[in-house]
Amino acid sequence: MKAVTYTGAREMTVLDQPKPKLKAPTDAILRVTTSGICGSDLHMYDGRTPLKEGTVVGHEIMGVIEQVGEAVQSIKKGDRVVLPFNIACGFCFNCLRGHTESCLTMNPEAPHAAYGYAGMGPYSGGQAEYVLVPYADFNCLKLPGTPGDQWEDDFLLLSDVFPTGYHATELAGVSPGKTVAIFGAGPVGLLAAYSSLLKGASEVYVVDGVPERLQKAKDMGAIPVNFREGDPVEQIFQLRKRNKGIQQSFRPGEEKMQGVDCGIDAVGYQARDDRDPGKEKPTQVLESVIRVVNATGQVGIIGVYIAPDPGARTEEAKKGIHPFPVADFFDKGLRMGSGQAPVKKYNEYLRDLIVNGRAKPGRIVSHHIRIDDAPDAYDKFDKRVEGYTKVLIRFDEKAAA
Ligand SMILES: [Zn+2]
Ligand SMILES: [Zn+2]
Repeated sequence: MKAVTYTGAREMTVLDQPKPKLKAPTDAILRVTTSGICGSDLHMYDGRTPLKEGTVVGHEIMGVIEQVGEAVQSIKKGDRVVLPFNIACGFCFNCLRGHTESCLTMNPEAPHAAYGYAGMGPYSGGQAEYVLVPYADFNCLKLPGTPGDQWEDDFLLLSDVFPTGYHATELAGVSPGKTVAIFGAGPVGLLAAYSSLLKGASEVYVVDGVPERLQKAKDMGAIPVNFREGDPVEQIFQLRKRNKGIQQSFRPGEEKMQGVDCGIDAVGYQARDDRDPGKEKPTQVLESVIRVVNATGQVGIIGVYIAPDPGARTEEAKKGIHPFPVADFFDKGLRMGSGQAPVKKYNEYLRDLIVNGRAKPGRIVSHHIRIDDAPDAYDKFDKRVEGYTKVLIRFDEKAAA
């Protein structure tokens, strides 16, 4: 089978790999119809997150079940399913409490597992024609429709970025009427904005430096803020000040609440320096989020912070240790949540929003490609050229139409 394989830094190659075989009676084999290239795949592509050469990548996977092990009960050949990027057992202490992002049994090296990802266990990725699904009963989400239908893109995004964007809003405490600032308008940031609006947030600001991404945020109903046009936190303060309805309803002291209730970091450690966007500043977004959130507000960190980072500039940063304005954080009495999304906690409900026409996350998809074009797409996505925001690899002939 054809599979996108990591063959070294800045080198993804489409290689002929053996088709997976069932290893346990609880496994299934999935014939992939669509697979996403994720912003987090770029950390490995860049060589910033070391991955074993020869690994098949891809953790955003959907398709049709080809074969099931004899112990699989609820999924059968021919079923259309999407997989959460988290691989989970369903029976450990964390899985039992809904924390499938932190499964204790699937990866001997760390409390989480995923398909085709550095440090996430020995699982092969799904940017390939077939993929092995462990504990198929627990990990497959059943989907209606047929491959290549009007939901193909929407459903694929249930594997990661839609639940991840939604999870960011949970970490940041977004609820009806609240004001939200999101840093980063990549797929996760955009879907965090979309989820905030679905939840009924009253004002949603999205900060980025790429005009095409800011336009997408605006099309969704968010307020775009370009950090290349000046300090984004100050821009948000000024935008809020111009909102007469809000200003006229302030009681004494409330004029100090010029920031927002909820802040989301959807960038992570490869943030750009606001003052010098050519340079990286790993703590730029963290600092901005803490500045922009009002006292007693809430912060969600969904952008990736990862160590070891051989590309970092200081010895401390290589170990993932960064300066953090803890005094301001404490002074404001903020709360903060972080980490990977427990996809299974949300994916059924988000699927039903899609099926009932209440959500259309596929609107963020910018490109559909064939697997042979994946190396080129990685390069373009990495350089953020030609509006490459979200690239999906189509395998199925019908799905490719
Ligand atoms: Zn992803
Ligand atoms: Zn588990």
